[in-house]
Amino acid sequence: MLKEETKNAKNGKKKKKVGEPRQPMPEQDPRTRARNFEEVPKGYTDEMAIAEAARCLTCKKPKCVEGCPVRINIPGFVGLIADGRFIEAAMKLKEDTALPAVCGRVCPQETQCEAECVLGKKFEPVAIGRLERFAADYARDHGEPDPDVTSPTGKKVAVIGAGPAGITAASDLACRGHKIIMFEALHQPGGVLVYGIPQFRLPKEIVQYEVNGLKKLGVEIRTDYVIGKTETVDQLLEEYDAVFIATGAGLPMFLGIPGENAIGVFSANEFLTRVNLMKAYDFPHHATSPIRADHVITVGGGNVAMDSARTALRLETRSTIVYRRSRAEMPARDEEIHHAEEEGVAMNLLTNPVRILSDENNRATGMECIRMELGEPDESGRRRPVPIEGSEFVIEADTMVIAIGNRPNPLIPQTTEGLDVSKWGTVEVNEETMATSKDGVFAAGDIVSGAATVISAMGQGKQAADAIHEYLTG
Ligand code: FAD
Ligand code: SF4
Repeated sequence: MLKEETKNAKNGKKKKKVGEPRQPMPEQDPRTRARNFEEVPKGYTDEMAIAEAARCLTCKKPKCVEGCPVRINIPGFVGLIADGRFIEAAMKLKEDTALPAVCGRVCPQETQCEAECVLGKKFEPVAIGRLERFAADYARDHGEPDPDVTSPTGKKVAVIGAGPAGITAASDLACRGHKIIMFEALHQPGGVLVYGIPQFRLPKEIVQYEVNGLKKLGVEIRTDYVIGKTETVDQLLEEYDAVFIATGAGLPMFLGIPGENAIGVFSANEFLTRVNLMKAYDFPHHATSPIRADHVITVGGGNVAMDSARTALRLETRSTIVYRRSRAEMPARDEEIHHAEEEGVAMNLLTNPVRILSDENNRATGMECIRMELGEPDESGRRRPVPIEGSEFVIEADTMVIAIGNRPNPLIPQTTEGLDVSKWGTVEVNEETMATSKDGVFAAGDIVSGAATVISAMGQGKQAADAIHEYLTG
């Protein structure tokens, strides 16, 4: 039991209870949810949200705000929830973030805003992410006022890529009166939010709602439009006053081991795209052929690996993670690892794939692995995994998903004159303005930072929008 104290709130009017336990999030039962694609956490009720918001101390110098990459006014919106003013709380959020319902669900709050919450030093921090999700969902369900848009400036901006960075910049620039045309390679906007993060973590209706909001602002979205093939950045520059590149890091990395080209071996991107965006789990209502497997091995220990392994479970297969370090070194959010374990994903830790075995038709039949032990820390600070000689063994499986990371796709750098690119394939920018080496061309998100997070892509998108506005209006 937490110790309960009382103290006077700043205005002296109310008494605040310090040390009330954090409101737990209601969730679907693990055994039930492991077989469906419905969202796992169910969200707070009005009463739970008010009780949770009332835990906030409304600090004079709120540390939590410093921990948030887009500097949301956290005590501001949390205070409004505590007063039951939910729509106003959502409006307060919208001043700083275009995608609160998304960030409230997928941001790693435990290492960002919540890590800085002073309450967390003695008790559990305020559940800032859950409250953000609550306010955004409430406003979506009950109707929210349209944002203010200034009169047209007559300037046109091409935004390439409709992920979090592109959506944020498009929304900010459209509100400032610029005409925005978005070009998206896939048939649906949303980026990783629609093709990568599964429905059970982020329902697609939420992303669709945000995309509809963009359309209401007058943003035109052209899908199935690959810049670098359909048209180049240099051609866009002839028609538009500025170009913003937000094409993410969607090029999957592979292990480079023998047998990796066997039938049944997928990159996590392909596996998740088939299931999420193309609804392979809903055959014959959707035309994508279903993935039928007995045992899926996912290689990796990040969020993408957890998403793949949990998705595999929901296709009614056995699902196993193979990761070369121990659980403590897994880069995935603790919550995701915990959810995967609860649902029944098996973890084969300190294990590294050596080769993929296949039958005479080149269909995968198993993965030969080797046991690892942890040695000295490497350049990332994590202890280096070292193979244990002679410990090879085989795990039988017919499907393998490789989830060991993504790189930026080289198409735009290769087809754009004078665009500076790093040795990792990321586009080089001025870190303040997100301006590239090419006049009138800006870039942000994973194409600049390499695979990162939704909120960092949004933060950079916002920075770029400010700089593009400045560039267009002098
Ligand atoms: P993206 O979201 O990748 O969007 C880029 C868009 O550009 C895509 O729609 C792509 O189709 C389009 N595009 C690419 N090339 C072209 C072209 N030539 N022409 C036109 N369009 C093009 N982050 C979190 O914070 N929390 C999480 O829980 C989390 N989970 C993740 C799970 C998965 C499976 C993956 C893959 C990533 C996850 N991330 C998570 C990371 C996060 O989603 C990304 O960092 C973020 O989406 C990057 O945003 P972006 O706008 O830069 O790029
Ligand atoms: Fe509230 Fe924690 Fe932020 Fe202080 S640091 S304002 S207690 S959320």
